[in-house]
Amino acid sequence: MTVRSESSVWEKRLAAAPGNNIKVNGERLWESLMEMAKVGPGVKGGSNRLALTDVDRQGRDLFKSWCEAAGCTVAVDTIGSMFARRPGTDELLPPVMVGSHLDTQPTGGKYDGVLGVLSGLEIVRTLNDLGIRTKHPIEVVNWTNEEGSRFAPGTTGSSTFAGIHTQDFAYGLKDADGKTFGEELKRIGYAGDVPAGGRRPKAYFELHIEQGPILEEEGVDIGVVTHGQGQRWFEIAFTGFEGHAGSTPMPRRRDALVGAAKLVTAVNEIALKNPPDAVGTVGVLKTYPGSPNVIPGSVSMTVEFRHPVDTTLAEMKEAMSKAIETICAENKLTAEVEEVFYYAPVAFDRDCVSAVRRAAERLGYSHRDMVSGAGHDACYIARVAPTAMVFCPCVDGISHNEAEEIHPEWATAGAEVLFHAVVETAEIVE
Ligand SMILES: [Zn+2]
Repeated sequence: MTVRSESSVWEKRLAAAPGNNIKVNGERLWESLMEMAKVGPGVKGGSNRLALTDVDRQGRDLFKSWCEAAGCTVAVDTIGSMFARRPGTDELLPPVMVGSHLDTQPTGGKYDGVLGVLSGLEIVRTLNDLGIRTKHPIEVVNWTNEEGSRFAPGTTGSSTFAGIHTQDFAYGLKDADGKTFGEELKRIGYAGDVPAGGRRPKAYFELHIEQGPILEEEGVDIGVVTHGQGQRWFEIAFTGFEGHAGSTPMPRRRDALVGAAKLVTAVNEIALKNPPDAVGTVGVLKTYPGSPNVIPGSVSMTVEFRHPVDTTLAEMKEAMSKAIETICAENKLTAEVEEVFYYAPVAFDRDCVSAVRRAAERLGYSHRDMVSGAGHDACYIARVAPTAMVFCPCVDGISHNEAEEIHPEWATAGAEVLFHAVVETAEIVE
């Protein structure tokens, strides 16, 4: 890569066009966010735009009309992901992609995903305003069904693009009413004819709200996302023996819930021993037979661990196995452990991450490296193309909630960093 000469062209451009010329139009971005939020409004001020519903179609139509008004051509792939393309001066070069998702949770926020897509559009609008051409085409992407709320699992558009899932797999997904992804995609008119994936963009950038409290708490403008958390999910069943809660002496008991309770504490300790990135959660616990005066004979529970380093994630699993052994011996229980989900950690591309960091520095925004705790479209695209993510703060770390909120200046800062990273990578033409 000829990074040196590219960035010197960029520096020249900045030197020649200081001040407002290099800023995105934060007001226009905010207006578009508010306009999109009117499509499929939630009941408490958020958004309810489930994938492949009528309101998803309306949101897509609105996005398409904005992209076309900005001079882009919009292609749709067979999974429904939308690619709004601003031509490069060399159309044979691979595009720089930027985007996220427009679908939301049923009680979702106005910014989760939407900020990333509309900031991509704002990049195109700003380039148009400034009359800047780029060598590589720029494609603003809306990935289909990121949330997975209606059709689980989510990230359907990006994972199919990355070749993880097939079109048949996607089309066969069913919602709670038994309607299939394929039928619903056709019904809303977004089953496109472009093959999903099979091409490699030069790079992919995604701006997203942090969905956690760190940036706001530390007063930092920008999260430079270096990794995505790896995940290991388990289903665990402890088996003891049911007995009379009044007449069974304590030393004779084989109480499965006592074992499960010790594992809850152990999971918590294992995560705390691997700071700052490890998290461990027991989200489900079911006791059998569930009677107030019967000693629980069996308990089923879930455990999930997340960590950005694969070896640490494996060590956490190992520590859990040891804890389960000890618990079984102490409480005369047996345990069955099944690992039901494994998702390898993602290390984002070093050059793309540097482009984000440089952009934050150039613009004078405070920044810190971060790990993404949530899964994102970028985590899948990272498997087929150089990828990085930008985080901006959100109020109290609240997300997947209608109360999700950000400040306009946070959105602007994120979009500006995204703009500089994308445009530097797409190479401006003098
Ligand atoms: Zn999201």
